[in-house]
Amino acid sequence: MDQVTVIADCAVATVDPHGTEYGRGHVVVRGNRIDAVGAGDPPEVGSARRIDGRGCLLTPGLVNTHQHLYQWITRGLATDHTLFEWLGKLYPLWAGIDEDAVRVAATGALAALAASGCTTTTDHHYVFPRDGGDPLAAEITAAARVGLRFHPCRGSMDLGASAGGLPPDHLVERLDDILAASAEAVARWHDPSFDAMLRIALAPCSPFSVTPDLLRESAALARATGVRLHTHLAETADEQDYCASAFGCTPAQYMQRLGWFGPDVWYAHAVHLDDDAIDAMAETGTGVAHCPTSNARLGAGVARTADLVRAGVPVGLGVDGAASNEAGSMIEEPRHALLWARNRGGPHAMTVRTALELATMGGARVLGRAAEIGSIEVGKLADLALWRLDTAAHAGIEDPVTALVLGSAPPLAALLVNGREVVRDGEVRTVDTDVVAAEVARAQAALLAKAG
Ligand SMILES: [Zn+2]
Repeated sequence: MDQVTVIADCAVATVDPHGTEYGRGHVVVRGNRIDAVGAGDPPEVGSARRIDGRGCLLTPGLVNTHQHLYQWITRGLATDHTLFEWLGKLYPLWAGIDEDAVRVAATGALAALAASGCTTTTDHHYVFPRDGGDPLAAEITAAARVGLRFHPCRGSMDLGASAGGLPPDHLVERLDDILAASAEAVARWHDPSFDAMLRIALAPCSPFSVTPDLLRESAALARATGVRLHTHLAETADEQDYCASAFGCTPAQYMQRLGWFGPDVWYAHAVHLDDDAIDAMAETGTGVAHCPTSNARLGAGVARTADLVRAGVPVGLGVDGAASNEAGSMIEEPRHALLWARNRGGPHAMTVRTALELATMGGARVLGRAAEIGSIEVGKLADLALWRLDTAAHAGIEDPVTALVLGSAPPLAALLVNGREVVRDGEVRTVDTDVVAAEVARAQAALLAKAG
C-alpha cells in the first residue's frame, strides 16, 4: 500500500498552465505521485500522514538548473575579481579535491538547497584530478542521502593553458578519456523513467576550457545515448572577447556551428546575447539556466531574461557554484531574477508569478521534465514545498506568492521529494546538519592547507 499524505488548510500556487491558485486548499499525495489538488477541505482518504498547512503556502518544489556542488568548500575566496581572475585564483585550489572532499561539499550544498525549497537539482562537475577517485559517484551518493532528485552533469575540460585555454594543464583530461568516462557514467547511472531520481547529462565546461572536438564528440555521444547537453555560455564580456579573438564570432555563434543548439541543450548564464542568438534559441528550444545571484557576485552583467521569456526560450533558475554564490539558497533566485529583470527592463519586465514559474516549471522544462515535475497537478511526482508565511517576517504581507518571492526567505514547514519528507519544521531530516557543518569546515581547512 502506498503511503498517503494529506496537506490541508494552506494557500496553494499550483503553477499549472492556467496559473490555478487556491486561497485555502489541499493536496493529497499517494506514494510518490500527486493524487488530488483543489480548493477547501481534502477528500476523505482514510489513514494518512497529515500535514497542517495553516499559515503556509504550498508550491511546487524549486528546480535548480545550474550548480557546482564541490565549490561548497571553496566559498569566500577571490571575492572582488572578474570571472577569469576568479578562475585563475581557484583552479589551483580545486586541483586538490578528491571524492571524499566532493562527498562532504556536495552534502553541505545539497542540504542548503533542500532547506531553501529545492527538490530537484542539477550539478555540473568538471574537475577530475588524476588521483581524485570518482567525484561523480561521490556526489550521487550524497544526493541519494540528502534525498533530492538529481541531474548531475559529467563535465570536462581538455584545453589547458599551453594550448590557449584558461585552466592549468594538469587540470585537463584527454579527449578519449573524457568520452569513455562520459559513456560509462550514462550507462551506469542514467535513468530515463518518469519517476527517475537520477539522470545524467554531458557538459564540457565552457568555450574557453574545451576544444571544439570535445564539444562535437560530446554532442554526438549525448544524442546517441539520449541524454541532455549543458555548458556555460556568454557569461562575461571577457568570454565574448576570447571567442572573438579565438574563433572570430560570438560564443552563441560558435556553439551553434558545433551543433549545440536544440531542445536537448541548456546553457548556464547566457548573459551577453544579441537578438539573433535569442531568436535562434527560441526557434530551436534551447534552454537557459539564469543565475542572477552569481552573475551579480561576479559582476558579469544582467541577463536579458525578460526578452528570453518573451521570445519563448525555456528559462530556469540556478544558484551556480557556491564559490560565486556563498548562500547557495534556491529561494533567493526568483527574487533576484525579478529584481534584475526590472532594473534592466522596468516595472513590467517580470511579475512575481513569472519569477515563481521560472523557479519551478521553467526549470522542469529546461531539464526535460515538464511532464513529471514543476507544477502541482494530478499524476505528477510529489515534489512539494510548504512555506511558513505566518511568522513575524511575513505575516501581513498581502498575497502569499508576493510574500514568498519578495519577502525574506521563509522557513519550510515541509519539503517532500518524490513523496518523501526531506525537511520538516525548518529542519533537514535526512542528514544531521551540525555534523555536516563540522565536516565541511574540516574539508575546507584541509583543502586550503593542501594548496599551501
Ligand atoms: Zn557555473
